[in-house]
Amino acid sequence: MKTNRQHTDVAIIGGGLAGLTAGAYLAAHGKSVTLIERGQLGGRAMSMTMKGFNFNFGAHAIYGRDKSYLADLEKVLNLSISWADFSQTKAKYDLGNDMTDIPASIGGLMQTKLLKGMDKVRFAYHVANTMFGFEKGDPNVSIAKWLEQKNVSPGVRKMMLNLASSNFFTGEPEKIPSDVFFQYYRRLFKTNVPVSYIQGGWQTLIDEFVRKIEENGGDIHTKVKAKQIEMSDKQIKKIYTNKGEITADQFVFAVPPNELMKLFSDTDVETLIEPYSKVEPTYVMFYDLGLDKRIESPYTYIFDKEKQMFITDISYYDQQSAPDGGQLLQAVAYLTEQEAGDSEAFEQKKRDVESFYDKHFPGWRDHLVIPRVSKKATVQALKWTMEQRGLPTHFAELTNGYFVGDWCQGTGQLSELSFSSATNVAETILRSHATRRGA
Ligand SMILES: Cc1cc2nc3c(=O)[nH]c(=O)nc-3n(C[C@H](O)[C@H](O)[C@H](O)COP(=O)(O)OP(=O)(O)OC[C@H]3O[C@@H](n4cnc5c(N)ncnc54)[C@H](O)[C@@H]3O)c2cc1C
Repeated sequence: MKTNRQHTDVAIIGGGLAGLTAGAYLAAHGKSVTLIERGQLGGRAMSMTMKGFNFNFGAHAIYGRDKSYLADLEKVLNLSISWADFSQTKAKYDLGNDMTDIPASIGGLMQTKLLKGMDKVRFAYHVANTMFGFEKGDPNVSIAKWLEQKNVSPGVRKMMLNLASSNFFTGEPEKIPSDVFFQYYRRLFKTNVPVSYIQGGWQTLIDEFVRKIEENGGDIHTKVKAKQIEMSDKQIKKIYTNKGEITADQFVFAVPPNELMKLFSDTDVETLIEPYSKVEPTYVMFYDLGLDKRIESPYTYIFDKEKQMFITDISYYDQQSAPDGGQLLQAVAYLTEQEAGDSEAFEQKKRDVESFYDKHFPGWRDHLVIPRVSKKATVQALKWTMEQRGLPTHFAELTNGYFVGDWCQGTGQLSELSFSSATNVAETILRSHATRRGA
């Protein structure tokens, strides 16, 4: 930090996508912003270059970008991002002995072998009902139960759960609350671009947010960790860090609930956060390959329905991700609660992923420059089950503090939850400042 004491309009704690979004939005709208991050900017959306390959911690796939908060942010903040939209004709389900289309468009729906005869019509009917908001689900009923209660045909039921598996990155789609499911698909079914990749990976987006914060006079400090909060009378007075202290009018916390528990310990806010701090995240295993030569395949995205894993040819969409002539492949395997952290399950998944690579990218072993494997990565800090709900972005008992991140209430899944919660909070802060000024 430039000084060891700062006063600012808004202090932002955490420099992942959510913190950076809030910072960029507020700075661009005239607020003085100080953002602190205990490590490197990007959080779980960090990029890392190794042997010329640009590995992203997590893919940089944005779902339904034309209908997303990120699309609004691009416009409002004038962000410079180049996109590659995924090619639906190159995206397939692997059925074991056969490959078939993913019903991500009318063409795909007509072609897919996953739905037979009348089930195609029934599925289209459910899609239309969802899009127009006739199907809303019920917060007290899981999607599996809801589909059963509505007597949805087994084929369509399976299809809906398969879709949810790939969009929510989970091996247990049946546990998703039905209201969350329908809220998500109401937006996604309207999209013209189901999946898009950011050119240059997450780093492009992080650089753009940083540019926006800094060109509007905001301060960003990495390697600065928030350690403790001083409160009085429902208000945060200051934050102590390893490098000093920060005072601000408003505070945005873009750090996960377990970290919030430490920061707010011994304050009245602790009990408000506690129920949300016990949430189980959604874990995946990922296994990336950096190859010195492209292995051509007719497909750039393949989802193995049985084994619940998918491969993306990242460098097909993002040429900056591999050196000239090389290839970057990414496999992601969904984990159930039992599998997450279980060493035997991990070894089995690893073998399954390798056979999956053998099948679709034969010869990869001869061209392997660098692999990157993660046994258990937090793809979303909040797993959607009937027992778990997102942290509210604001409590009446805390007048100048807000919460953002993919563990919060918001719209969408994965990074969209970070973008949506952060945008909503930034807008609330701007409105509250405007009201106070007008009063
Ligand atoms: C394998 C994998 C694949 C993924 N694929 C996709 C995808 O294809 N599409 C998609 O949209 N999303 C994807 N995601 C999810 C996406 O990466 C996350 O939703 C998003 O990055 C979450 O950002 P966040 O800011 O909400 O949280 P985080 O990234 O967790 O940010 C929290 C930040 O707070 C900092 N912090 C914590 N405590 C303190 C403290 N005391 N003081 C200061 N700083 C602190 C942390 O260091 C961190 O930087 C993927 C994730 C993974 C792991």
